[in-house]
This record gives sequence, structure tokens and C-alpha cells, in this order.
Amino acid sequence: MFRISVIIIFSCLFCSVVQTQQPHLENFYLPQYDCEQKIVWDMKKVTIVIPDDSTIVDAKRFGERFSGRGIEVIIKTESKIQENDLNNNLCIMGPIKSYSQWDRFGIPVKKLMRGFAISKFSFDDPSYGFSYISTTSPVRIAISGNSLGAYKQIENKPSFGFEFVVLKDYVPKLICNGSHIVDLNILKKSRYVEIESKYFVFMVSKNLILEDEKAIVAKIEEYDKHVEVFVEKMELDLPKKKIKTNIHATQEEIKYFTFGDLCNDDIRNGYVTGDEIHSWNWSRENVEHETNHHIFNQQVNEIPAIFLCEGVPMWYEYTKNEEMKDIIFQRAIEFADYDLTDVICGKENFHQGDKFYFISAIFTDYLMDTYGLSKFKELYRYDTRDLLSGFEKILGKPLSDILEEYKKWLLSISVN
Ligand SMILES: [Zn+2]
Repeated sequence: MFRISVIIIFSCLFCSVVQTQQPHLENFYLPQYDCEQKIVWDMKKVTIVIPDDSTIVDAKRFGERFSGRGIEVIIKTESKIQENDLNNNLCIMGPIKSYSQWDRFGIPVKKLMRGFAISKFSFDDPSYGFSYISTTSPVRIAISGNSLGAYKQIENKPSFGFEFVVLKDYVPKLICNGSHIVDLNILKKSRYVEIESKYFVFMVSKNLILEDEKAIVAKIEEYDKHVEVFVEKMELDLPKKKIKTNIHATQEEIKYFTFGDLCNDDIRNGYVTGDEIHSWNWSRENVEHETNHHIFNQQVNEIPAIFLCEGVPMWYEYTKNEEMKDIIFQRAIEFADYDLTDVICGKENFHQGDKFYFISAIFTDYLMDTYGLSKFKELYRYDTRDLLSGFEKILGKPLSDILEEYKKWLLSISVN
């Protein structure tokens, strides 16, 4: 059972934006993403400003984004900033409340008693974060927020290209270039249709709705069924709340709503922001993959190690998709001699093409097959900062032994 209705829910925070902009589907303005971002990348030198309590900001690693492009980087704490520094390019990082003299940076974001304000909009909840880049010289970049958590989300994934981006709980809320402010809730209201099903609240791009309504009904029934199959297989409960699921028609749409890099040709298939999932079109693989993440993580661990995290939906796909089965397995065979210790423990970048996605599927299959689902879940719950000892404590032997056994297991299967 489902119903289609144009959504009526949107945040009241930006009501005045609605009144002044009167968005329509035909002419809704999307602020241009500035892929060149010349003002930033033409800098010769930039001073990164960090709060006096500087341990909370990873400025050195962040600075590599600039130094990698030949820009000289200097790091200073707030109290070391002199008058003459203010005439130069500055990148101010860290929670706004950590700054005692925020106003002297000349950024059009006001520090409030609680939170910050941009234009006439104020953001006082601790979960709000923002990034700002000036469009004139000297350059001002600010990456900040009302709490360490909100700030870290942006430090880890800064978006250069818009003048302002405001996020709440890792969900992008507002983007702005020049005087054009776009509230993404309103964008959704004009461009997306809500469809509610047994386990989902879908927000579907109107471009897809127009395409084929019957096919959508079939898809939705399939996804509701999938939820039941998945929770049974993983010995979980049915979700207590309907899963907010955004189905986007184009790469531009999914990237706008997930804070993606619009200048990059990379394809974004699916994504999780806060408690919402996103899929590029109705692809079964995309929707199921993100649904599996959502359900498993909500019930087992919301901040798991990435290798184990991707292992769950990839393993599910491996067991279900006959076409992919052989491709995934062959990839794991190809890397049978590769030392997986660092990537499993999060010390090596997981995102190196698709190889670790495929390998995580097979390694998960091995763990489930050898140690069982409940041990796997115990491991999944373990503190990711010390996963190495988690293997030993939970599975009873060091990861090095487990990897040796995994290799034997893998090769024995491939022989059969
Ligand atoms: Zn994933």
C-alpha cells in the first residue's frame, strides 16, 4: 500500500525565503557551483587560524589541501593573529564558540550567544555547522559550527564551490552563492514527491515520477519485501521508524542533497546523510545497499569500521546477485596475498576504486561462515580505534592468524 502526495512538510526556519523566492519547478534557481574556485586556488599563501585550544583541529592535515597545490601554509592560534595578518588570506577553523574575537575576521557570519547567524537567519542548535568562502580578496575561508561534532563533519568533507553551506546533523540544509539562498527543504518541496510505503518514506524526484508510475509501484513493493528478508537474514528487528529515502534523478540532484563534489565526474550511486538515505535513481543495488547500511547500523553500531560497514551490504549483494557473484569473488582471489590488516583497521584508505568493497564482501562471508553471525555483530560493535584487539578478544586469535586462515579458506573455495 502506498500513497502519492506532494509534500507539505518543510522547516519553518527559512519561511521568509519561501515568501521572497517563490520557487517553481520550471525556473527554480540552483546556485552555480564554482568549480574553478579561482580565488581560493590562486592564493600564494594562507594562514590557517585555529582556536587557542588547538588540539581539537586537525589543521596540519587540512592544510595539505592547499600545500598540495603549491600554496604556502602557515598555522597560527587565534591569540597569535596580529593586525597585519588580517590583511592576508585566512582560513579559520574550529567551533565558533572556541573563538573569543570572531568578529575581527570580517566574515559575514555573526557569532551569537548560542550559535551563529547568516543574513537574517540564525542557527542556534548544536548540530549546525557551516562553511564560508569569500568571493573577494583577501580570501576568507571559515569552517565552523556550534559543536565539535558539527564542525568535524565539515572539516572531514569541506565543500569548496559555494559561498555558504549550512548543515544540520550532516544533512545539508542551505546553500548560497552571492545573494541566492537555496533552502534544500524547499527545493525538495518543489521538485520531489512523497511516497509512503510500509517501511519507507520516499522522496522521489519528479523527473522519475513522470517517467513510469507503474514501475515505481513495483519497485516499492520490492523494497518493502527486501526489508523483511534482510532483517530475517541478519536476525534484526523490523525498523521502528520509516526509512527516509531520497530517490534522485540526476547526478546533480544527488550531489546537491548529499554535499557531493559537483565538479568531479565521479558517479555517486548512494549515500547516507544523518538518518536519511539517498539513491541515484530506482536502482535495486543502490536502494538495497543503503537500506542495509541504515537498518544494520541503527541496530548494531552507528559508527562501525568502514571495512566491516561496507562488508555487510556487499556480502548481501554477493549472496544474492548471481551475475556479480563471480566478479566479486575473482577480485578477492586477485588480492589473496594482499595484507588487509591496515585497511581492516582503518589505517589504509578504503576508497581505492571498488577493490576493497568486493574484498570486504568475501571477508565478511568468511567471518560469518567461520565464526557465525552473532560473533560478527560483536566485532562490528567493537571500538573501531582498537579493532585489532577486538579480533583477538572476540574471535579468540590475532588478526594475523585470521587473515592466514581467510587466505586458505579463499583458495580452497576457488579450487572447488
Ligand atoms: Zn556503502
